[in-house]
Amino acid sequence: MSRPTHHPTVVLLGGRVIDPSAGCDGIADLAFGDGRIVDTVDADGPTIKVDASGWIICPGMVDMHVHLREPGGQHKETIASGCRAAVAGGFVAVACMPNTQPALDSVDTLDQVRHRAEEAGLCRVMPIATITRGRAGGTLTDFAALKKTGAVALSDDGSGVEDDEVMRAAGRLALETDSLLIQHCEFTELSAGGVMHAGPTAQRLGLPGWDPRAEEAMIERDIELVREIGFRYHAAHISTARGVELVRRAKAAGLPVTTEVCPHHLLLTDEACSSLDPNFKMNPPLRSEHDVAACVAGVVDGTIDCIVTDHAPHAEAEKAVGFHDAPFGIVGLETALPLAARALVEPGLLSWSGLIERMTVHPRRVLGLTKASSSNEGSLDIQMPADLTIFDPESEWTIDAQRFRTMGRNTPFNDWAVRGQVMATLVDGRLRFVHSRAADRFSMKTSA
Ligand SMILES: [Zn+2]
Repeated sequence: MSRPTHHPTVVLLGGRVIDPSAGCDGIADLAFGDGRIVDTVDADGPTIKVDASGWIICPGMVDMHVHLREPGGQHKETIASGCRAAVAGGFVAVACMPNTQPALDSVDTLDQVRHRAEEAGLCRVMPIATITRGRAGGTLTDFAALKKTGAVALSDDGSGVEDDEVMRAAGRLALETDSLLIQHCEFTELSAGGVMHAGPTAQRLGLPGWDPRAEEAMIERDIELVREIGFRYHAAHISTARGVELVRRAKAAGLPVTTEVCPHHLLLTDEACSSLDPNFKMNPPLRSEHDVAACVAGVVDGTIDCIVTDHAPHAEAEKAVGFHDAPFGIVGLETALPLAARALVEPGLLSWSGLIERMTVHPRRVLGLTKASSSNEGSLDIQMPADLTIFDPESEWTIDAQRFRTMGRNTPFNDWAVRGQVMATLVDGRLRFVHSRAADRFSMKTSA
């Protein structure tokens, strides 16, 4: 008996294959072998057949805004636990924010993240480095060296770059090094210690309000700098109607400006804070109905490019100190797909293909992951890595924070009944997550 020289070919049979990059959406078989998508099944080699009927198969989802907390915040999350949550949520790649301890502002810290991600061996982890040293808003980091070490973008997320001259210099250096700047849009003089959206609910509750102009003014300032300099700019977690309108106009003027939104800013308003549950506290805060409607419209008309989670785990004790004093942030990796579907697909505003495009193709495009780095192309073309998200669009389930893979339990969506459940996540053709409901189909019987 000679040992087989071929890796087994896996054929996913009869699923609904959606590849927005190719404009395809239909029932088809999809095969992959040796980690890559193939068009023909080797008749002599071993074949594994998986019944994929009733499932949607699409290019692997990418979340370009997560907080993995490591180094320094391992009591909230580790790179390994964050990656477990990512693949359970259907993500094959995440871009992690640099507001760690120490901040990701050096080649050494980036190397450390890459090493830990390799050890975890679950999904692709693409670090974002800081714009300024220590995220202090003063001295720029070495963009070229950080990019060379694998930083896919630069951001001081958690804080905005407030100083005009520092941001102008960052824009110039970003243009020179072809780097993407991701801005956390908040002038703290305007947000002024606010813990929730400034509006009637904050007034009624007697809580300090976070003025939406803090976001809008920074987006406006930054767009003027983009007009002046021409660097690639991405506004993080947009939440205000005027912010969306500013980005819409910048795009119409042909400026290289993009943005993203989180599911919670599409589903919840500031009124939800009336419960005083700290799991409704995040930055930027839940906004007015008018802002929510504008964000939804922005996703639908393409002004908002990507859906991201801003996954921000905290330890339970940290959040359990009352609304006013609790830290900002909620987890999101394991609930993003059904919540985005609730906001956009269920009301008939987007097709599944439209939503998938905003969670696969667009984040890759914004991050500049083009054919040059073929592992992140985000298509189902022959020879592309088999990075796949497989989900059951009809499956109904109830969100239960106690069952999360993330170490964080801080979600405002606990006990929500949702539709759409990730069945499996494959990275390079390897099964990195399989839902218990799908385990029997993936029992991997070899037919040859
Ligand atoms: Zn932020």
